[in-house]
Amino acid sequence: MELAQRVQAVRERIAAAATAAGRSPEEITLCAATKVQTDDTIRAAIAAGIQVCGENRVQELTAHLAADAYAGARGVHFIGHLQTNKVKQVVGRVDLIQSVDSPHLLQAVDRQAEKLELVQDILLEVNIGGEESKSGCPRSDLPALVELALSSPHVRLRGLMAIPPISTVPGGNRRYFAEMYQLFIDITRKMSDNQSVMDCLSMGMSADFEDAIAEGATLVRVGTALFGPRPPKGTP
Ligand SMILES: *Cc1c(COP(=O)(O)O)cnc(C)c1O
Repeated sequence: MELAQRVQAVRERIAAAATAAGRSPEEITLCAATKVQTDDTIRAAIAAGIQVCGENRVQELTAHLAADAYAGARGVHFIGHLQTNKVKQVVGRVDLIQSVDSPHLLQAVDRQAEKLELVQDILLEVNIGGEESKSGCPRSDLPALVELALSSPHVRLRGLMAIPPISTVPGGNRRYFAEMYQLFIDITRKMSDNQSVMDCLSMGMSADFEDAIAEGATLVRVGTALFGPRPPKGTP
Protein backbone atom coordinates (compact mmCIF):
# COMPACT_ATOMS: atom_id res chain seq x y z
CA MET A 1 0.00 0.00 0.00
CA GLU A 2 1.14 3.52 -0.75
CA LEU A 3 1.66 6.04 2.04
CA ALA A 4 -1.35 8.07 0.91
CA GLN A 5 -3.56 4.97 1.09
CA ARG A 6 -2.26 4.10 4.54
CA VAL A 7 -2.97 7.63 5.76
CA GLN A 8 -6.48 7.28 4.38
CA ALA A 9 -6.92 3.84 5.96
CA VAL A 10 -5.81 5.08 9.39
CA ARG A 11 -8.14 8.07 9.09
CA GLU A 12 -11.03 5.75 8.31
CA ARG A 13 -10.20 3.53 11.29
CA ILE A 14 -10.07 6.59 13.55
CA ALA A 15 -13.43 7.78 12.23
CA ALA A 16 -14.98 4.33 12.69
CA ALA A 17 -13.66 4.03 16.24
CA ALA A 18 -14.91 7.52 17.09
CA THR A 19 -18.35 6.85 15.66
CA ALA A 20 -18.57 3.51 17.47
CA ALA A 21 -17.82 5.35 20.71
CA GLY A 22 -20.49 7.98 20.00
CA ARG A 23 -17.84 10.61 19.37
CA SER A 24 -17.15 12.87 16.43
CA PRO A 25 -14.09 11.96 14.32
CA GLU A 26 -13.09 15.63 14.42
CA GLU A 27 -12.43 15.30 18.14
CA ILE A 28 -9.41 13.13 17.42
CA THR A 29 -6.09 14.42 16.16
CA LEU A 30 -3.84 12.04 14.25
CA CYS A 31 -0.21 12.66 15.16
CA ALA A 32 2.20 10.85 12.83
CA ALA A 33 5.11 9.38 14.81
CA THR A 34 7.86 10.19 12.34
CA LYS A 35 10.91 8.72 14.09
CA VAL A 36 13.51 7.32 11.66
CA GLN A 37 11.60 8.72 8.65
CA THR A 38 13.40 10.85 6.07
CA ASP A 39 12.64 14.48 5.20
CA ASP A 40 11.03 13.29 1.97
CA THR A 41 8.81 10.75 3.71
CA ILE A 42 7.65 13.44 6.11
CA ARG A 43 6.90 15.76 3.19
CA ALA A 44 5.00 12.97 1.45
CA ALA A 45 2.99 12.29 4.62
CA ILE A 46 2.05 15.96 4.89
CA ALA A 47 1.11 16.00 1.21
CA ALA A 48 -1.09 12.96 1.96
CA GLY A 49 -2.96 14.90 4.62
CA ILE A 50 -0.96 14.43 7.83
CA GLN A 51 -1.30 17.63 9.85
CA VAL A 52 0.65 16.89 13.00
CA CYS A 53 4.07 15.24 13.25
CA GLY A 54 5.50 13.84 16.49
CA GLU A 55 9.25 13.51 16.93
CA ASN A 56 11.00 11.32 19.45
CA ARG A 57 14.56 12.35 19.21
CA VAL A 58 15.99 15.83 19.52
CA GLN A 59 18.59 15.16 16.84
CA GLU A 60 15.99 14.13 14.27
CA LEU A 61 13.74 17.05 15.19
CA THR A 62 16.60 19.50 14.71
CA ALA A 63 17.58 18.00 11.35
CA HIS A 64 14.01 17.97 10.01
CA LEU A 65 13.46 21.55 11.15
CA ALA A 66 16.67 22.64 9.43
CA ALA A 67 15.51 20.93 6.23
CA ASP A 68 12.06 22.53 6.57
CA ALA A 69 10.59 19.03 6.27
CA TYR A 70 7.46 19.92 8.28
CA ALA A 71 6.40 22.73 5.92
CA GLY A 72 2.62 22.69 5.57
CA ALA A 73 2.00 20.79 8.80
CA ARG A 74 -0.31 22.37 11.34
CA GLY A 75 1.82 21.24 14.24
CA VAL A 76 5.05 19.58 15.33
CA HIS A 77 5.09 17.83 18.68
CA PHE A 78 7.88 16.36 20.76
CA ILE A 79 6.79 12.93 22.01
CA GLY A 80 10.02 11.25 23.16
CA HIS A 81 11.97 11.24 26.37
CA LEU A 82 13.47 14.70 26.82
CA GLN A 83 16.68 15.26 28.72
CA THR A 84 16.91 18.50 30.65
CA ASN A 85 20.14 19.47 28.91
CA LYS A 86 18.34 19.40 25.56
CA VAL A 87 15.36 21.63 26.30
CA LYS A 88 16.99 24.52 24.43
CA GLN A 89 16.68 22.56 21.21
CA VAL A 90 12.98 21.86 21.73
CA VAL A 91 11.28 24.70 23.64
CA GLY A 92 9.80 27.25 21.26
CA ARG A 93 10.51 25.01 18.28
CA VAL A 94 7.55 22.67 18.71
CA ASP A 95 3.88 23.40 19.28
CA LEU A 96 3.53 20.86 22.07
CA ILE A 97 5.94 18.92 24.28
CA GLN A 98 3.95 15.80 25.14
CA SER A 99 6.49 14.18 27.38
CA VAL A 100 7.14 16.38 30.43
CA ASP A 101 7.50 13.88 33.26
CA SER A 102 9.44 15.40 36.16
CA PRO A 103 9.60 18.63 38.19
CA HIS A 104 13.20 19.07 37.05
CA LEU A 105 12.28 18.90 33.36
CA LEU A 106 9.20 21.07 33.85
CA GLN A 107 11.26 23.79 35.50
CA ALA A 108 13.88 23.62 32.77
CA VAL A 109 11.16 24.01 30.11
CA ASP A 110 9.62 26.93 32.02
CA ARG A 111 12.98 28.68 32.38
CA GLN A 112 13.85 28.28 28.70
CA ALA A 113 10.39 29.49 27.66
CA GLU A 114 10.84 32.52 29.92
CA LYS A 115 14.18 33.29 28.24
CA LEU A 116 12.50 33.14 24.87
CA GLU A 117 9.56 35.17 26.20
CA LEU A 118 6.99 32.61 25.19
CA VAL A 119 4.58 30.16 26.75
CA GLN A 120 5.26 26.53 25.89
CA ASP A 121 2.31 24.16 25.58
CA ILE A 122 2.93 20.87 27.35
CA LEU A 123 1.37 17.57 28.31
CA LEU A 124 2.40 15.62 31.38
CA GLU A 125 3.44 12.06 30.62
CA VAL A 126 2.17 9.48 33.11
CA ASN A 127 3.78 6.09 33.65
CA ILE A 128 0.35 4.53 33.84
CA GLY A 129 1.57 0.94 33.91
CA GLY A 130 3.99 1.68 36.75
CA GLU A 131 6.83 0.16 34.73
CA GLU A 132 10.30 0.70 36.10
CA SER A 133 11.95 0.90 32.69
CA LYS A 134 9.56 3.53 31.34
CA SER A 135 9.64 7.28 31.37
CA GLY A 136 6.59 9.16 32.59
CA CYS A 137 5.87 10.41 36.06
CA PRO A 138 4.56 7.93 38.62
CA ARG A 139 0.83 8.29 39.05
CA SER A 140 1.26 9.24 42.70
CA ASP A 141 3.45 12.21 41.68
CA LEU A 142 0.97 13.56 39.15
CA PRO A 143 -1.00 15.92 41.43
CA ALA A 144 2.20 17.71 42.51
CA LEU A 145 3.40 17.93 38.92
CA VAL A 146 0.05 19.40 37.85
CA GLU A 147 0.33 21.99 40.63
CA LEU A 148 3.83 22.88 39.51
CA ALA A 149 2.71 23.21 35.89
CA LEU A 150 -0.15 25.49 36.90
CA SER A 151 2.17 27.71 38.91
CA SER A 152 4.77 27.95 36.13
CA PRO A 153 3.90 31.04 34.08
CA HIS A 154 5.77 30.01 30.95
CA VAL A 155 4.15 26.64 30.43
CA ARG A 156 0.55 25.98 29.56
CA LEU A 157 -0.80 22.61 30.62
CA ARG A 158 -2.86 21.12 27.80
CA GLY A 159 -3.37 17.58 29.09
CA LEU A 160 -1.86 14.18 29.62
CA MET A 161 0.03 11.57 27.64
CA ALA A 162 0.76 7.90 28.27
CA ILE A 163 2.55 4.96 26.74
CA PRO A 164 1.06 1.90 28.43
CA PRO A 165 2.89 -1.41 28.70
CA ILE A 166 3.30 -3.49 25.54
CA SER A 167 0.21 -5.64 25.37
CA THR A 168 0.22 -9.15 23.96
CA VAL A 169 -3.54 -9.53 23.82
CA PRO A 170 -6.07 -7.40 21.92
CA GLY A 171 -7.73 -4.95 24.28
CA GLY A 172 -4.98 -5.49 26.85
CA ASN A 173 -4.43 -1.78 27.38
CA ARG A 174 -8.02 -0.66 27.64
CA ARG A 175 -7.95 -0.51 31.40
CA TYR A 176 -4.87 1.75 31.29
CA PHE A 177 -6.60 4.00 28.77
CA ALA A 178 -9.66 4.14 31.02
CA GLU A 179 -7.47 5.02 34.00
CA MET A 180 -5.80 7.80 32.01
CA TYR A 181 -9.19 9.20 31.04
CA GLN A 182 -10.21 9.27 34.70
CA LEU A 183 -7.01 11.12 35.67
CA PHE A 184 -7.61 13.57 32.83
CA ILE A 185 -11.20 14.21 33.92
CA ASP A 186 -10.24 14.59 37.58
CA ILE A 187 -7.61 17.21 36.75
CA THR A 188 -9.90 19.07 34.37
CA ARG A 189 -12.59 19.26 37.06
CA LYS A 190 -10.15 20.63 39.61
CA MET A 191 -9.06 23.41 37.32
CA SER A 192 -11.76 25.97 37.76
CA ASP A 193 -9.50 28.93 37.14
CA ASN A 194 -9.17 28.49 33.37
CA GLN A 195 -5.49 29.27 33.39
CA SER A 196 -4.87 26.25 31.23
CA VAL A 197 -6.87 24.50 28.55
CA MET A 198 -7.02 20.81 29.22
CA ASP A 199 -8.01 19.61 25.78
CA CYS A 200 -5.53 16.88 24.95
CA LEU A 201 -5.41 13.26 26.06
CA SER A 202 -2.65 11.62 24.04
CA MET A 203 -2.80 7.83 24.06
CA GLY A 204 -2.97 4.96 21.58
CA MET A 205 -0.47 3.83 18.94
CA SER A 206 -0.70 1.59 15.85
CA ALA A 207 -1.63 -1.54 17.80
CA ASP A 208 -4.31 -0.03 20.01
CA PHE A 209 -5.47 3.42 18.91
CA GLU A 210 -9.04 2.22 18.46
CA ASP A 211 -9.18 1.11 22.10
CA ALA A 212 -7.69 4.45 23.16
CA ILE A 213 -10.36 6.32 21.19
CA ALA A 214 -13.06 4.18 22.79
CA GLU A 215 -11.72 5.26 26.19
CA GLY A 216 -11.49 8.97 25.40
CA ALA A 217 -8.22 9.76 23.60
CA THR A 218 -8.23 13.09 21.77
CA LEU A 219 -4.87 12.49 20.08
CA VAL A 220 -3.38 9.23 18.84
CA ARG A 221 0.29 8.77 17.92
CA VAL A 222 0.66 6.44 14.98
CA GLY A 223 3.89 5.32 13.33
CA THR A 224 3.94 1.80 11.93
CA ALA A 225 0.39 1.83 10.56
CA LEU A 226 1.31 4.87 8.46
CA PHE A 227 4.92 4.26 7.52
CA GLY A 228 5.33 0.48 7.77
CA PRO A 229 7.65 -1.35 10.17
CA ARG A 230 10.74 0.50 11.39
CA PRO A 231 14.17 -1.14 11.15
CA PRO A 232 15.14 -2.78 14.45
CA LYS A 233 17.05 -0.58 16.88
CA GLY A 234 20.77 -0.51 16.19
CA THR A 235 20.49 -0.98 12.42
CA PRO A 236 22.57 1.61 10.62
C1 LIG B 1 7.08 5.35 17.96
C2 LIG B 1 6.10 5.97 18.84
C3 LIG B 1 4.73 5.89 18.59
C4 LIG B 1 4.14 5.15 17.42
O1 LIG B 1 4.34 3.78 17.56
P1 LIG B 1 3.72 2.74 16.48
O2 LIG B 1 3.54 1.51 17.27
O3 LIG B 1 4.74 2.61 15.42
O4 LIG B 1 2.47 3.31 15.99
C5 LIG B 1 3.87 6.56 19.46
N1 LIG B 1 4.32 7.23 20.53
C6 LIG B 1 5.63 7.32 20.82
C7 LIG B 1 6.06 8.10 22.00
C8 LIG B 1 6.55 6.68 19.99
O5 LIG B 1 7.84 6.76 20.30
